[in-house]
Amino acid sequence: MKRTALQRDPQATSDWVNRSQRSTARKQKPRAISPASPAQRAKCRLAVCIVCQNPLRPVQPAHLIDRSLCPEGADDPRAVIPLCAAEHRAYDQHDLDLLPYLEPHYRAELAFAVERFGLVSTYKRVTGDWDVRVNERAD
Ligand SMILES: [Zn+2]
Repeated sequence: MKRTALQRDPQATSDWVNRSQRSTARKQKPRAISPASPAQRAKCRLAVCIVCQNPLRPVQPAHLIDRSLCPEGADDPRAVIPLCAAEHRAYDQHDLDLLPYLEPHYRAELAFAVERFGLVSTYKRVTGDWDVRVNERAD
């Protein structure tokens, strides 16, 4: 009769099963997908979330334009705005329209995004409205 892996080496099988539990215990705190620069962290350190404005919620520097979409200037303090974790996640998942919260206090950040990423692209990313169409020039 053929023996199973457990019968051949019970300790090795047990180690293999327990390996995942050990690695879970060693896991580090999840890191941000696009880490903020020291200047960006300093900018947001004393700020409140621009959406909920709840002073009890810690804020994170959230890139207005994802670093992957526009790496140029991504470490500049104007590239981020302060959001709490819940709003940051919603924005990164394209479930949050930030435009109503950016005007007028975060106009510099909006202008910085437009300068690097373009007006229409910035509007689409910030609002989550990807269906915006721009009329073509009539020549
Ligand atoms: Zn918030």
